Amino acid sequence: MNDGSSSLATRRKTRQILLAHPSNPVAVGGDAPVSIQSMTTTKTADVEGTLQQIYALAGAGADIVRCTCNDAEAAAGLAHIVPRSPVPIVADVHNNHRMALAALDAGVHCLRLNPGNIRRPEHIKLIAGEAKDRGVPIRIGVNGGSLDEKLYQKYGGKVTPEAMVESAQIEMAYFEEVGFDQIKISVKASSVPLMIEAYRQLSEATDHPLHLGVTEAGPPPAGLVKATAGIAALLAEGIGDTIRYSLTADPVEEAKAGRQLLEALGLRERKGLDLIACPSCGRAEVDVIKVANDAQAALDGFQIPIQVAVMGCVVNGPGEARDADLGIAAGRKRGHLFVKGKVVKVVPEDEMVAALVEWANLIASDGIEGALSRADSGAAAEADADRAALLDEQGADANASEQTVELIRKHLADS
Ligand code: SF4
Repeated sequence: MNDGSSSLATRRKTRQILLAHPSNPVAVGGDAPVSIQSMTTTKTADVEGTLQQIYALAGAGADIVRCTCNDAEAAAGLAHIVPRSPVPIVADVHNNHRMALAALDAGVHCLRLNPGNIRRPEHIKLIAGEAKDRGVPIRIGVNGGSLDEKLYQKYGGKVTPEAMVESAQIEMAYFEEVGFDQIKISVKASSVPLMIEAYRQLSEATDHPLHLGVTEAGPPPAGLVKATAGIAALLAEGIGDTIRYSLTADPVEEAKAGRQLLEALGLRERKGLDLIACPSCGRAEVDVIKVANDAQAALDGFQIPIQVAVMGCVVNGPGEARDADLGIAAGRKRGHLFVKGKVVKVVPEDEMVAALVEWANLIASDGIEGALSRADSGAAAEADADRAALLDEQGADANASEQTVELIRKHLADS
């Protein structure tokens, strides 16, 4: 695993807080791995429905799950959910300080308060005092869209990074008055440049752990791109201790995206399968998009951390994906299945996906060496023959690029 010291900036040193789930505590900040969060979309009063979603989120990679605590029924629901949850639960509280106190009574492992909504100092200090007595941390969740009106006006009727950081600092000062420091902070905005700058300023101003997110990112794929742009930019700068994708989608997609981002950056070890595929080109012998999608669906949920490649042609595919644990490349109506770049089997084109699944399971049970030992003896020679035949038919320039260059030259000469 990349420890962040090579390609990414060294992670900023932050204090550590603990979400003290009895069997699955999660530390945030300090040297704890960057954690993944998501939020349930069920009514929290619906205990079974919410727990089902929490389990699905945990299965998809969420380390921490947030549930709204917006009324007395939700608080009562939390009292039943918290003892049965596999991961720490954060109660999201917006307007009513009594809901924060009720969530603490329900045993939640963390609170999220929006300083733009609960404004009376005595309420904020009361909650912080209660949280302190119970050892429950609080996230100060500043949101560009619900910034305190006074701050909004102070900064010229605009949401600015400075205004968001000041909002967090005002809340922190109340917490300090009661000696409470188990804090993490977020300064989310739907504008990516705004949230990036706000987090940069915040990380200069405090060493409390930071929760990253682009709020109201919207539905995928644009929402995924926006959230990734903001979160990844900050993580690459060494900023951020826990992340949440705020997508208009099934929250399981948020947890998956969070996991995938951290794995892609080398900040978390890969838990599941990584499917790579070539972008296809004039050499492709098969519909790469379809085969890749079919393979993705067939291998969804495969919990072995192997990399699987789907490549459009046997001429370049096995070489381009030689580092993949397992792959398949198409050619002459057949699929060349390879393990670590070595062809182990040649299958009919319509069996490519089934072969990938079979050999992924073989690697899972017997390991790479075990799979290699099962290679068909004639497979490599068959593959070489297919590759040579294709090169004969298509030549080295299967995309006809040289012909295009000639055409361009001709048009330029004629003009
Ligand atoms: S050369 Fe082959 S493997 Fe590479 S992009 Fe084209 S089809 Fe895919």
